[in-house]
Amino acid sequence: MNDMMIKGAQLVSNSADRPKTIVQLTPEVAIGGPEIVIIGGPCTVENYDQMDKIAFHLKGHIQALRGGVYKPRTSPYAFQGMGVDGLEILTQVREKSGLPLVTEVMAISQIETLADRVDMLQVGSRNMQNFDLLKALGQTHKPVLLKRGLAATIEEFVMAAEYIVSHGNPNVVLCERGIRSFDPYQRNVLDLGAVSALKQITHLPVIVDPSHAAGKRELIADLSRAAIACGADGLIIECHPEPEKSLSDARQALSLPEMAALVSSVGAIAQAVGRQFTSTDSPRA
Ligand code: PEP
Ligand code: MN
Repeated sequence: MNDMMIKGAQLVSNSADRPKTIVQLTPEVAIGGPEIVIIGGPCTVENYDQMDKIAFHLKGHIQALRGGVYKPRTSPYAFQGMGVDGLEILTQVREKSGLPLVTEVMAISQIETLADRVDMLQVGSRNMQNFDLLKALGQTHKPVLLKRGLAATIEEFVMAAEYIVSHGNPNVVLCERGIRSFDPYQRNVLDLGAVSALKQITHLPVIVDPSHAAGKRELIADLSRAAIACGADGLIIECHPEPEKSLSDARQALSLPEMAALVSSVGAIAQAVGRQFTSTDSPRA
């Protein structure tokens, strides 16, 4: 074992005799294969129109749709998400657009309902070490998007993934979303060294969330391209038809034309690092 490896990470560690994990969201969309996958959508599902517009304008640019219905907000007085009503909206938009869905699960009691309707369950930063939740997700076969904790070390992050895999679910994708720093200028600091390290020490796919890292929309396109150059298998990015009206994380939301332009610009970087990138449709945004 070299000093890059994490002691105790028995199942998620990279080794010559283990294939790289490819997480299949649907028969058409896989994370960790040759293709870069882009997940886009609002921080929070707000209404049908909002989600329908995003799916319509970005269908050719993104491979999956995100949108929170259970939201872990810092303040208990902030909008907490639409819950089951939001899930109903997501289901309708999935049916109409064919885009697979990613949404956050905050509690064990939500797993069953969410798993029936969406394609990937996100564990948010604030729950990265909610070990009971991780164990319960390990007992499903649903793809899990595990986000790095607000101030979690790489070792803690890898061991959180080990919890899910060791309980029986191999379908885990890691997500670097920035870590706390001393500098309030950016919301968090995107740790690209961690992306490279995680790709080397684990066989799991790694994607990057530049939105929660930067917290400012002007920085997101550059960070996205840097992440792909660094070996990330995909991106999850917040966008909104009217960014400044977003009910949560408005400052980091991209407009739909900004999102489409970002996606196009990522293609050249993907190619330069030997990855494939398919825009499945002609631009509508
Ligand atoms: C989110 O994806 O909207 C979110 C709350 O992210 P994080 O858990 O990374 O803060
Ligand atoms: Mn958000």
